[in-house]
Amino acid sequence: MDFAINGRTQLIGVIGWPIEHSLSPAMHNAALEALGLNWRYVAMPVRPGEVVTAVRGLAALGFRGCNVTVPHKPAVIPALDVISPEAEMLGAVNTLVFTRDGAGAPHIAGHNTDVAGFIGDLRANGFEPEGRRVVVIGAGGAARGVVYGLLGAGVAQITVLNRTVERARQLVEDLTQKDRKQEARGKIEEDDNEDPASCVLHPASCIVPPASCILYPLTDETLVESARTADLLVNTTTVGMWPKVEGCVWPEGAPVPEILTVYDLVYNPLETRLLRLARQSGARTIDGLGMLARQGALALDLWTEQALDVEAVTALMRRAAISRQLSAVGQKADG
Ligand code: NAP
Repeated sequence: MDFAINGRTQLIGVIGWPIEHSLSPAMHNAALEALGLNWRYVAMPVRPGEVVTAVRGLAALGFRGCNVTVPHKPAVIPALDVISPEAEMLGAVNTLVFTRDGAGAPHIAGHNTDVAGFIGDLRANGFEPEGRRVVVIGAGGAARGVVYGLLGAGVAQITVLNRTVERARQLVEDLTQKDRKQEARGKIEEDDNEDPASCVLHPASCIVPPASCILYPLTDETLVESARTADLLVNTTTVGMWPKVEGCVWPEGAPVPEILTVYDLVYNPLETRLLRLARQSGARTIDGLGMLARQGALALDLWTEQALDVEAVTALMRRAAISRQLSAVGQKADG
């Protein structure tokens, strides 16, 4: 099929800073070509402080939409005309959809497909979160989406472990705050636990069934002890990510419980040290590339307004990302 750029080519892309290592152009352009769409996806470096100007410029230029990545996910919000409930709750937008209103003026909608990307990938890997006990390691931007998604999917309990416990406390408070404002419910109670850094929150009555969130500082002991009774362990930290691939949140020598499913959001390398240890202990493992591919497929679904086969596009994007990653490793080895 002819995939040449011409006067009718539609543009989409991703903004971030830095952006040159993004896998999204490879994933999306492979999907666009397979779908036979005369569209192109480009990576655009946007400096912090210029995000709103850049986004309004893309809308005025007639882009169909764009993805937003680190560090701009909160910074695009002032540029929006409308925001989806999950993006508003998280304070983070990863997908913008540009349209025109009745008067022809640009209209900018903000979404967050990371949440559905994560939960959808869990389910696609055969893990149904409802009623399960989950340990989430980390409390950064990615952890927010993961915890929000898990609560919405009806998990029974979430334990959040973070090196900086105050950040974990803030995360859980933020994800329950809104509900307290809206419904005057959802109370924060200090846990009986002797550890003064821990507390238990009973969040969001809109989240069905109600789950409890427990938080602890991340230590070898809190991690191993929390994982002992959990069904799912999710690493949302940067530990183990290239180039520091020997990093691992799980303590050396401690077996990973066999009944656990271990999910690592890191996708470079595809099998992190955490996933290797888990696999060697007999636990089930899921890498972060499925979530990346699925959030991309869901964004494309928003832009094209066609009923895309999200499963097929996710699989295609995943293959394109793997092949891009492998060729990047080849280039590094060559150079
Ligand atoms: P972030 O906001 O910077 O958060 C980083 C997290 O890692 C924080 O919880 C931080 O703890 C923790 N951390 C960093 N170094 C640590 C160390 N040495 N020991 C223990 N904890 C450490 O980053 P993010 O945006 O959440 O991204 C986190 C990871 O998720 C990245 O690897 C990213 O590529 C991945 N991710 C994947 C997808 C996907 O689609 N698969 C999507 C989004 C993100 P403190 O709070 O104590 O600093």
